[in-house]
Amino acid sequence: MSRTESMAQLARIADTAACGAEDLARHREACTTDAQTAAAGGDTQAPSASRRQFLLGAGAAGIAASAGTLLPAGLAAAARLRKQATGNGGVAVVGAGLAGLSCAAELARHGIAAKVFEADWRVGGRCRSLRGFFHGQVAELGGEFIGASHHTMLGYARELGLTLEESAVFPGERFYRFDGQRYTEAQVVEEFAAFTASIREDLALLRHPTADAYSETDQFFDFMSLDDYLTLHGAGSLLRGLISTAYAGEYGAGIDALSAVGFLRFVQGDRRGKFAPFGAFTDRHFHVVEGNDRIATGLMERLPAPVAFGHRLVEVRKRGSGRIRLTFDTGGGRSVSTEHDSVVLTLPFSVLRGVELHRSLELPAWKRDAIARSAMGHHDKLIVGFSSDYWHTLHGCNGSGFSDRAHLQSVWETNPAAAGAHGAILSRYCGGPAVGALSGHDVQADARAFLAELETVLPGALREAKYNTRGDVWAHAERWSRNPLSRGSYSAPQPGYFTTIAHNEGKAVGNLLFAGEHTSSFYEWQGFMEGAALSGLRAAAEALQSANTAPQPVIRTGGNQRAATGTAAPAVANGLGRAVRTPAAPRASGPSGRPAPAGRGVRAREFAQLGDDQR
Ligand SMILES: Cc1cc2nc3c(=O)[nH]c(=O)nc-3n(C[C@H](O)[C@H](O)[C@H](O)COP(=O)(O)OP(=O)(O)OC[C@H]3O[C@@H](n4cnc5c(N)ncnc54)[C@H](O)[C@@H]3O)c2cc1C
Repeated sequence: MSRTESMAQLARIADTAACGAEDLARHREACTTDAQTAAAGGDTQAPSASRRQFLLGAGAAGIAASAGTLLPAGLAAAARLRKQATGNGGVAVVGAGLAGLSCAAELARHGIAAKVFEADWRVGGRCRSLRGFFHGQVAELGGEFIGASHHTMLGYARELGLTLEESAVFPGERFYRFDGQRYTEAQVVEEFAAFTASIREDLALLRHPTADAYSETDQFFDFMSLDDYLTLHGAGSLLRGLISTAYAGEYGAGIDALSAVGFLRFVQGDRRGKFAPFGAFTDRHFHVVEGNDRIATGLMERLPAPVAFGHRLVEVRKRGSGRIRLTFDTGGGRSVSTEHDSVVLTLPFSVLRGVELHRSLELPAWKRDAIARSAMGHHDKLIVGFSSDYWHTLHGCNGSGFSDRAHLQSVWETNPAAAGAHGAILSRYCGGPAVGALSGHDVQADARAFLAELETVLPGALREAKYNTRGDVWAHAERWSRNPLSRGSYSAPQPGYFTTIAHNEGKAVGNLLFAGEHTSSFYEWQGFMEGAALSGLRAAAEALQSANTAPQPVIRTGGNQRAATGTAAPAVANGLGRAVRTPAAPRASGPSGRPAPAGRGVRAREFAQLGDDQR
């Protein structure tokens, strides 16, 4: 599962490239037939008449979210707790993104009313939907795709009674454009196939390095950039263009700023030893038709106490009593301080770096280092309205494709289920160094540059785009790196990350706990909404343990859920009452100040791959 269409496409290409010669020949033949059909003016996919029906019927209905039966109980429990959530003491959660909200909802389910503080005036953080801008449609400004194996997020959607649309079922061709040339998928697959043998050999040597446990070989690949890795194996220009574009889109960083381990472990997220590039990543992905941030608001509505908005954390220190004191800037030169038995910080480290973490907290060097050096990717999302889905009706294209041009790096259709006579939306996603090539503040300049590029690949873009009465393109841009509450898009593992930082992000330091997508392991769902939600559940389990109010832990067979401390991580629900498995809670530091080696818990990602009967 990836966050971008470009990565999903690369995943499919890699999968095909890794299959046997016979399959490759079949794929080549299928592509040729498709191309001939298209050249003859035919549609290469399902008949367009049933396009929307196909989506709404097979795509959405298959997993249509139903109203959750647990909601009334959740509300009743919330009402009982409402009184407790005021004033000092107890657990504080800072940040009301998906991590903070899932943590607070889970605590509420266990009878603990956490106080939630948020700098902004809304919940959701980097999960934010745009409504009322494009007639009848909802676009995503941040987190967009929810993978088929993102059980926590899908569980929330289901229990909140939200509707899901499946993006990947959309029929139609994709485009690939590099060095000014348009390529067929067959050409791209061919080029990737030559590269898979090298990847397979390197994967045989590589473990799953973390700052606690790594070999010399792991370190060698970790400090090697993806750029150097491609050079080492003599990747051709098409493959280099393809991989750099897909990785810039996926991680928001150039291939010179990403660890080769990230690439190798992404192409084989599956730890069962079988070589299956991207095989662990289904490209089935979903979107909440009402907007993904309905999950955030749904969780907020079920909290026992209102979120304290407009509270920007500026300082954290420890009192002699062992309690943690938080100081917030509440605007207009005012500040407030509160004290708590334990605190969960969910701010991205890029933002936490600007918060005074007082020496009384006695943060160990490895924690300070993780906070100081964890890297964030940079992304820019441009969303443009069209009067119709002309890419499909005129070109048999599903609206997605990618290229090496900054203004056309990665493109897909957003909220296709709600497209119709009133229009359709394309999202242009740009990440990494290319973000610098965009015009920054001028949305119109970016929108026009995007349309001009799109016109060369899918003619009709300039005519079909929607304009207002002043002649401005109907477009919205979201620049996450300029947002002081995120200072980037999501985690991007830089060279050296795996063997010096990985897994230190989420470890608690006494009663100071950490959650957020960045604290989810790379081998789990770091950088994803699912990772944020799971990290919140894990932090809730830690807070419950430290408050000594945890229910009897459930120890699973095989001991896979057993935390390295010898205690089992409690089985927790997704905050609305439905049990999900959390990864084993990261451990606090050992006596030496260095964390003890990681236990081998079932990774959320692997867990997701098991059939229900295997769980
Ligand atoms: C452009 C983009 C595309 C993405 N695409 C996908 C995708 O397709 N699929 C996917 O699964 N994920 C995607 N993601 C990632 C996903 O959105 C995030 O991983 C997830 O939303 C992070 O949640 P969080 O709770 O960890 O952090 P956040 O959402 O950042 O929550 C942190 C909260 O802390 C608040 N805060 C910040 N500073 C302070 C302070 N000083 N004091 C108090 N509060 C503060 C913030 O306002 C915010 O509400 C995308 C993200 C971006 C930006």
